Amino acid sequence: DERISKLRKDNKISVIGNKIPAPIEHFDELCSLYSVDTKVVDNLASCKYTVPTPIQMQALPIMMTGRSLMACAPTGSGKTVAFLTPIIRDLKAPQKNGFRALILCPTRELAKQTYQECVRLTEKTGLKIHVISKVDKADETFGVKSKQMCDILISTPNRVRFLIQQEPPALELKSIEWFVIDEADRLLEDGKDNFKEQFDDILKACTNPSRKLALFSATYTVPIAKWAIKNLKNLIRVTIGQQNT
Ligand code: ADP
Ligand code: ADP
Ligand code: MG
Repeated sequence: DERISKLRKDNKISVIGNKIPAPIEHFDELCSLYSVDTKVVDNLASCKYTVPTPIQMQALPIMMTGRSLMACAPTGSGKTVAFLTPIIRDLKAPQKNGFRALILCPTRELAKQTYQECVRLTEKTGLKIHVISKVDKADETFGVKSKQMCDILISTPNRVRFLIQQEPPALELKSIEWFVIDEADRLLEDGKDNFKEQFDDILKACTNPSRKLALFSATYTVPIAKWAIKNLKNLIRVTIGQQNT
């Protein structure tokens, strides 16, 4: 309706897809409309996140209705919160069935930063998060017992591929419900064919039929859009600001 169009226009939100949920204006709506635990909204408030940024306004409802997403929004616009919050809502409480969310970042530094944000947002939820920093410590980290204990995995792609390809696998991804590629434009950039291969192997290991995928990047790139349209069911594309193609 008109109010929704105006809200999108005012916040420079463009959307492509079917049945796109309305943007939210306040984090409180997450509790009333999407049954997000108040603990999580409290955690956002503790971080001094009082008003959702445009990408958060639109990406949160999309991911919370279980849609796959390609999201493009400028650097510094709050993409991390946009993908962490829906993951935290969907996973709810800790389980001991292995990782249920996987977040890939292009560098270890970004993986570490994402981990830190995730720790803050999961406070009091009991969810367990792991960031792979040293692959050669994989055996200790993912010993048969402990690898079942974490809910969210944050890593760079090579490391994940290395671990799933061990015999027997040092890491399993069959319980993954959410697969997020952060900085997808950097990871899928031309010349880094490496990543495309790693990505295919990792995606194949995520065998849960209801797994959803979200791609986040700073710039809109045609190869990623083409890949997403071809491979993702129920896709919605969101761009904030000028679409730079
Ligand atoms: P991006 O991934 O889009 O480059 P980040 O997720 O790294 O952006 O967020 C950029 C900065 O904005 C971070 O310091 C983060 O803590 C802050 N931030 C995120 N969401 C909000 C919000 N709703 N209100 C205020 N600051 C926010
Ligand atoms: P980064 O490049 O930031 O160090 P990557 O995710 O690319 O992180 O992983 C490091 C690389 O080292 C990968 O190619 C991985 O397959 C390889 N590797 C990691 N650990 C081992 C190991 N114990 N034995 C052999 N190769 C490893
Ligand atoms: Mg980011």
